Amino acid sequence: MVILGRQGSGKGTQCAHLVGQYGCVHVSTGDMLRAAREEGTALGIAAGELMDRGDLVPDDIMNGIVAERLAKDDILAAGVLLDGFPRTPDQADALVAMLSDGGLDLAVNLDVPVEVVTSRMMERGRADDTPEGIARRLELYEAQTAPLLAWFAEQGILEVVDGVGAEDEVFARLQAIIDPLI
Ligand code: ADP
Repeated sequence: MVILGRQGSGKGTQCAHLVGQYGCVHVSTGDMLRAAREEGTALGIAAGELMDRGDLVPDDIMNGIVAERLAKDDILAAGVLLDGFPRTPDQADALVAMLSDGGLDLAVNLDVPVEVVTSRMMERGRADDTPEGIARRLELYEAQTAPLLAWFAEQGILEVVDGVGAEDEVFARLQAIIDPLI
């Protein structure tokens, strides 16, 4: 499954619950890029500069990273929960090509209004959570990622989950959508 939602919508938090409950593998492209940066790889250093500006890492690089990760045995066995990918129409096309037919079962839009995510990110204080970085990422989300919601809806796999509320309340809403599909 794919989880979408604005930056600060709580995707990371809910993904941890989803992994605990369903045993799928969580693939967060943001976490992968931060790990590469931490290790000081060439990719990590180049990506780090883009991340600090709130810009996206180029599609061909992201598509390559994700394709490589999706081919690993753990995911083939347990299934994947994709977080932060796809983020652009090109990445969505690439994802379809990476997966076998019927490979995508569900796309969840964890819906939280702009004002709420902005204040959550200001409190979180991650390195790229500067006022400019937040504004830039939200702008790119509306321009590049929000249009993907229509594409997932056309595939008949989009579910919108209200992401405002306590952590366990939001998780219960996710379970109510996922459990009938298992
Ligand atoms: P957020 O959702 O708050 O932006 P993420 O951890 O998902 O946090 O991503 C952090 C940064 O990593 C993004 O601002 C972007 O620079 C980069 N990134 C993550 N995923 C992608 C992707 N699929 N395509 C391009 N860039 C990405």
